[in-house]
Amino acid sequence: MDDAWDALLPRLKELTDLGHAIGLMEYDQAVSMPAKGSAARSRAIGTLESLYHQRLTDPEIGRLLDRLEAATALGPDESASVRVLRRNYSIATKVPAALVRELGELRGLAYAAWLEARPAADFSILQPHLERMVELKKQEADAIGWAGERYDALLDMYAPDVTAANVESLFAELVHGLVPLTEKILAAVGEPPEFLSETYDPDQQEAFCQWLVEHVGFDKSGGRLDLSPHPFTMTVGAGDVRQTTKLTPNAICGSIYAALHETGHALYEQGIPERLLDLPAGHVASLGLHESQSRLWENHVGRSRPFCDFILPHLKERFPQQLGSVVPEEFYRGVNHPRRTLIRITADEVTYNLHVALRFELELALFRDELDVADLPDAWDAGMEKHVGIRPPDVSDGVLQDMHWPTGALGYFPTYTIGTLYAAAFYERAVEQLGDLTEELRAGETARLLGWLRENIHQHAYLRSPVDIARDVIGGPLTARPFLDHLRRKYGEIYELSV
Ligand code: ZN
Repeated sequence: MDDAWDALLPRLKELTDLGHAIGLMEYDQAVSMPAKGSAARSRAIGTLESLYHQRLTDPEIGRLLDRLEAATALGPDESASVRVLRRNYSIATKVPAALVRELGELRGLAYAAWLEARPAADFSILQPHLERMVELKKQEADAIGWAGERYDALLDMYAPDVTAANVESLFAELVHGLVPLTEKILAAVGEPPEFLSETYDPDQQEAFCQWLVEHVGFDKSGGRLDLSPHPFTMTVGAGDVRQTTKLTPNAICGSIYAALHETGHALYEQGIPERLLDLPAGHVASLGLHESQSRLWENHVGRSRPFCDFILPHLKERFPQQLGSVVPEEFYRGVNHPRRTLIRITADEVTYNLHVALRFELELALFRDELDVADLPDAWDAGMEKHVGIRPPDVSDGVLQDMHWPTGALGYFPTYTIGTLYAAAFYERAVEQLGDLTEELRAGETARLLGWLRENIHQHAYLRSPVDIARDVIGGPLTARPFLDHLRRKYGEIYELSV
């Protein structure tokens, strides 16, 4: 092995350890820190993040990368790590320190303004901060550089090697198929069944989720499931993958499906080979791929008829009063009950991506200088009417509903839909290769499916471009076709529609 690699390795381990400390602090902040600890914790995280940034941008790393890029004796793990580290180093060194600092400060200010603006339903509280945020993100994109258009640089941070043009054509195909399909499905849907809004004891909900995540393969000797207001998953360090779910007393589906969603993320994290864990290539390759795993477990497994048949008796044991008389058909229809809703995070499998299409259109317009932040609320309402068919009564359930823009996560939303489309394509391919999974899922057996995901996706970590990893699995470029087919098949059957 090249001696430049030996010189780089302790630096990589140090970066891993700093990331470990930051991750643990963030996890604690989201799950168990008392509210009064917030200011001190934010400063502590900021201090460690700037230390991380200093270490990553140390010119010696650049010199070692130069030598390693010329080296010929590197193995696949090492050369992939050199490629990923070059990418991270290059992004971190191109953005001026003053801009990084201003963005960091603005995130805190804009988030605080958003917290105030949403309950007050007053966009003007957030507007000046959001205007500055869009301006700074444009500067950041220009500093990093882009080939096609400015938005590419933002997208690339979350979905490497994906461009605005790729995403635009995916959404065009998706929306074209999804809008008429949604119309037909929603016209056939009746009232939601009563069990969806019964009251469910939170302790029993949690106990059920704890059992379920382990049952489908989450290894608790290398992870935990906790509770937090916004479910999420993160790897703290090797052998320590944390996930959370959220309990809502009058909605059983929320906690179960949030837990299955996060378990999809967590299984992916647990599937990264141990030998890679200190290396830049030892991470999930993109948020699009990450989201493919959560959507696959949440929707293709969790909301499938056979898996619903499997979990219903277990739920009945814990909730005999609420579910005792519910028959399997009713349960399955209930957990797949689509409706027009204002809020993305509670949207169903059918309408969810129309919410994302709206956000993508608006982001693109902002970064193409075709839309001003001041005009966002009106553009939002018109877009909701066009895509989802309803208008928000005010901005709090409209343009102010998500925290992504105030926290600077511009270019992030498309990864939700990329993940959804990948999930359908991967699941279709898994069934082709493994054979029909119905009987296994009805028995609650998911080991063969998990093994397939480990082999085809998880073990590749970031050893190759996420686009190439996915292309090898599905045998071609990503399209909306498998997802639209999945919806047509599933909802056509549930509501006896010809779609
Ligand atoms: Zn997710």
